[in-house]
Amino acid sequence: MTGTERLYYHDSRLLEFDAVVISVSERDDGQIAVELDRTAFYPTGGGQPTDTGTLGDARVVHCIDAESDGVLHLIVGSVPEIGDRVHGKVDWLRRLDHLQQHTGQHILSAAFVKLFGAPTHSFRVLEHECEIDVALDDPTDERIERAVDLANQIIWENRSMTIRQVTAEEAASLPLRKEPSREGELRVIEIDDFDLTPCGGTHAKSTGEVGVIAVRSWERAKGLARIQFMAGIRVLNDYRKANRTARDVAALFSAGREDSPALVARSVEESKKLRRRLSELEEVACRVEAEELLKEAGYRTGSDSDRIIDSSEDEQVSTTRGSGWVDRVHRAAVTDSSRGFSSDSDRGSSPTVSEGSVRGSSPTVREGSVRGSSPTVSEGVELGTDSDRGTSPTVREGSFHTRIITKIFSDREADSLKHLALALIAHPNTVALLGSRDGDTARLIFARSSDASGDMSALLRRVCPIIEGRGGGRPDMAQGGGKNFEKLSEAIDLASKALA
Ligand SMILES: [Zn+2]
Repeated sequence: MTGTERLYYHDSRLLEFDAVVISVSERDDGQIAVELDRTAFYPTGGGQPTDTGTLGDARVVHCIDAESDGVLHLIVGSVPEIGDRVHGKVDWLRRLDHLQQHTGQHILSAAFVKLFGAPTHSFRVLEHECEIDVALDDPTDERIERAVDLANQIIWENRSMTIRQVTAEEAASLPLRKEPSREGELRVIEIDDFDLTPCGGTHAKSTGEVGVIAVRSWERAKGLARIQFMAGIRVLNDYRKANRTARDVAALFSAGREDSPALVARSVEESKKLRRRLSELEEVACRVEAEELLKEAGYRTGSDSDRIIDSSEDEQVSTTRGSGWVDRVHRAAVTDSSRGFSSDSDRGSSPTVSEGSVRGSSPTVREGSVRGSSPTVSEGVELGTDSDRGTSPTVREGSFHTRIITKIFSDREADSLKHLALALIAHPNTVALLGSRDGDTARLIFARSSDASGDMSALLRRVCPIIEGRGGGRPDMAQGGGKNFEKLSEAIDLASKALA
């Protein structure tokens, strides 16, 4: 290998050239690498990204600096042979962009040194912006903007830029802005009466080509100021984008661009107040809603007594909500083995509502006592007298009837659902099994009053797989979410049956 003559060292605006292929190789990743006797393609290095372009009929997608072995051109397309004479063409807009960013960095870094004695530790050209890490004490917008102003002054004075080849001895006597990173003969870039720095990149011929420099943002990083800036064409692109954003925001307020920050701030403040007020009102609304739900289910909402309604009352129970309610309200007397009760005489007189009818738009009351196949009276359960059983059973003091309120909403957020559940379980002996389709999420919340039994968390975990979700919580309150809102009803049915 003899290395490659680097034409870009001498002329950063040389975009087309002819060269001879001196090697072709396949790399480990399968890419084809072509080495030429001379090239105008700049390979990645010094914070400046690679040039791209064409080599004959092939596309040059990346160039690698193999140091003394020259520049490797990674190509896609027809592969030349060793000894072929090829024509290379560098993508100009990409080169111009890199030239502006790179030269801009020289100028901005020099400005930080001139004003604050703050050297630049590293430099990167990113996709949309550039980044320098500057050892700037006490970085502030004001200090950084002072450096930006000086840099733009140097740009607009259109100072000449020259490339000097100097020996190591000569370099040692020059006031270089940074230490050279390599030994031997050095390439030094000089900005007339402003900056002298060793560099192997592509630069403008005069500072005016950079156009303008702007800082977009900065942050502290590793004890340095990490400054995001851009130069030339990138500043125009960014201005257009920022201006479009500013105008779009202003249009929302039918205001001017400069007036919108204050209007946005006011709107955010108002929104916070409204959210607070809304939250207060929702609590009140949920208390009322909870009482209505209980009434619809045929329950009194007082805390001292509850009553099971008979079948004639069943018919009168109906939802009064609008179309947003997909629901049913369902009540069951306790029938589980620990708290349930039923007897033959119950069956004879208790209202019986088939399961199928539960689903309609009319809420349905299901008497849990109907389901039991054999009378079961468990500990802690008090039953009325025989004569009570013959007619409507009466539950005294609300001590052993658990009311299960189930309801599914078509569009209700988790917080609101929780408020309603809390309002429901503020009533004695109440279990709330609520569901909602919240956007694309199926939500469930199971809760019980402190005097009701059942592990809501276990119950929720048991039914969550039905909605392809998960959840958990405490024995008295659990929440979950899943993907399958079509099966909310099935999940709540199962939970309800497990309790009944
Ligand atoms: Zn440079």
